[in-house]
Amino acid sequence: MENKRKGALLIDNSLNKDIGINLKLSRRMLKGDGGRFSSLFRSRRESAVFIGGKEMVKIQTIYQRLYKAFGPQNWWPGEDSLEIIAGAILTQNTAWTNVEKAIRNLKEQGLLSARGLRDVPLEDLAKAIRSAGYFNEKAKKLKAFIDFLFINYGGSVKRMFKKETHLLRQELLEIKGIGRETADSILLYAGNRAVFVVDAYTRRILSRLQLISEKADYQEIQQLFMQNLPLDAQLFNEFHALFVRLGKDICKKTKPDCGRCPLVRKGKKQKRKSALQISYPQFPYGELRLSLRE
Ligand code: SF4
Repeated sequence: MENKRKGALLIDNSLNKDIGINLKLSRRMLKGDGGRFSSLFRSRRESAVFIGGKEMVKIQTIYQRLYKAFGPQNWWPGEDSLEIIAGAILTQNTAWTNVEKAIRNLKEQGLLSARGLRDVPLEDLAKAIRSAGYFNEKAKKLKAFIDFLFINYGGSVKRMFKKETHLLRQELLEIKGIGRETADSILLYAGNRAVFVVDAYTRRILSRLQLISEKADYQEIQQLFMQNLPLDAQLFNEFHALFVRLGKDICKKTKPDCGRCPLVRKGKKQKRKSALQISYPQFPYGELRLSLRE
């Protein structure tokens, strides 16, 4: 029984060692918020986090394949937490290169600080971030966040991140213009909290792999990861970044380049009879077979 459980959880342990992420289950997963936030995600299937299953194996295998193919993505680019938060707001509906220009402008104009963003007139802020698109709306969102920061935390991001994850998430979601993806990006990338970020790339890839239905909502998709992986900010950081890489370069919106996809293993004979195979018989772009040693 013990071996079976171990086999399900610690797939390809040598690779886990390589990537420096320990997939062993431990109480460390529940650190940071006293387990309250994570418990939200365990209510439906309490045991899913702790007991291996097909979904867990599939999710972990996808991670391992992507990591092996692309390596560490070193996200999120940003010198400090406030810059990451600004980036998370500015990146809505635009390419990152446009955000970079906006961030550079903010820095050059000395605006990328809590006081700078608070004191700059809305119109000037909109001009400074013009390259990010929807600049009037985004300027209002930045202002809304900064107002929230001053009203509740005296303008200190550090103080804000002392709040427990589930409470802070609720507060962020109450800010006008901050949706779940942005709130979770802030928590994960600026606050180093173990919250999985779901974006359009994640949704597209999982849907094509038939791991979710096209109608799956944000929370359902998030649960898929938070119930089946250790609650580890570093792991979630890397996983999301890898999905973005795959979605941008290979699993594109209109024409996925499945021939180059690291999730497809073609023409490889099984080396061991005991290899565990997960297949997707109705896979729309040819059968995907994930093979793991037990
Ligand atoms: S096999 Fe094709 S459709 Fe599936 S994730 Fe890879 S690129 Fe996307």
